[in-house]
Amino acid sequence: KKLGIALVGLGSYSGGQLAPGLQDAENCYLAGIVTGTPAKEKEWMEKYNIPKKNVYNYENFESIAKNKDIDIVYVVLPNSMHAEFCIRAAKAGKHVICEKPMAVSVEECDAIINACNEAGVKLSVGYRMQSDPYTKEIKRLVKEKPYGSVRYVSSDAGYISGGNPDQWRLNHALSGGGALMNMGVYSIQSNIYGTGQNPISVSAQEFSSRPEYFKDTDETITAQMEFPNGVVGNLYTSHNANANRLFVSFEKGWAELNPCHNYGPLAGRTSDGKEIKFPHQSMQKLQMDDFAKHIMLGTTNYAPGEMGKRDMIIVEAIYKSIKEGGSKVALDLGDMGIVRQ
Ligand code: NAD
Repeated sequence: KKLGIALVGLGSYSGGQLAPGLQDAENCYLAGIVTGTPAKEKEWMEKYNIPKKNVYNYENFESIAKNKDIDIVYVVLPNSMHAEFCIRAAKAGKHVICEKPMAVSVEECDAIINACNEAGVKLSVGYRMQSDPYTKEIKRLVKEKPYGSVRYVSSDAGYISGGNPDQWRLNHALSGGGALMNMGVYSIQSNIYGTGQNPISVSAQEFSSRPEYFKDTDETITAQMEFPNGVVGNLYTSHNANANRLFVSFEKGWAELNPCHNYGPLAGRTSDGKEIKFPHQSMQKLQMDDFAKHIMLGTTNYAPGEMGKRDMIIVEAIYKSIKEGGSKVALDLGDMGIVRQ
């Protein structure tokens, strides 16, 4: 049996990546939609053969509880709406996928995790890189140490934002923050799977060159992370530069993915001239299939709620450091959110 997924929020990510990815999925399918825009209902029903009984709006969303076709609700709305809709989905008894960043505060992440635990439903964050073979190869090199132990990791994530300065991503009330919330979470994730550990402290700096455009949110942030055993991590995230790279330095060599987090095909190489290469597949398909398998078979949840919460703890620590003029903010994360594969 394939599990039925309902997408909440039919914007560019749902339309451009998730719905197409679901067409080839093996363990799940696009069963329903939840939209606040009535005009999209007919278009999506026709395009993806979705019956009227599986179409909901933001007001009647709760009645999804009775719909046996829907096993998983996937929340793909602006960041500040994630918590409300994930909690409503959990209370309706549905498993939940919450897009990244998980929410706009640690407090909201806790509320989502608690609601899912109370309802006895599974939760994951839309961290598609965790199901991607290039990322898995980096994790393997870190774990099996063919080039020795990691000494340094560096990861960059950004793009040049232009056009509409009023878009929700640049509106703090809807996004919770700028480049760091949107792209910085990829960099945080890369630093962590590039070392196999959680950071024990973070220091950060903010840069601004277009304040008239970025009126409400951070434009560029750099941060340095300290990991156990003297390992150092470097993070760059921006809405003002194209950046898409993960570099891991080992005792006896290095590995690089460039690009490392777009929709692919990705590319990578190691210091001994080897290419890191896998057949291109939809990461969204792999991610949703992994979560469906987790629900059906009890296999690993590669992006649990605790991982999203951990990253939000780091996001809050980075903002705190910036506010304090670059102070070193200690973190006590233990192994929180570390998933080995
Ligand atoms: P988008 O602007 O294209 O779509 C947002 C959707 O939310 C639209 O359907 C819009 O109608 C709806 N919406 C409801 N209330 C809204 C409001 N007050 N303001 C604006 N839109 C509102 O955004 P998107 O790119 O699809 O991003 C949605 C979520 O998905 C975000 O959390 C984003 O971070 C995440 N995302 C993840 C990835 C990934 O690779 N994992 C990629 C893109 C986006």
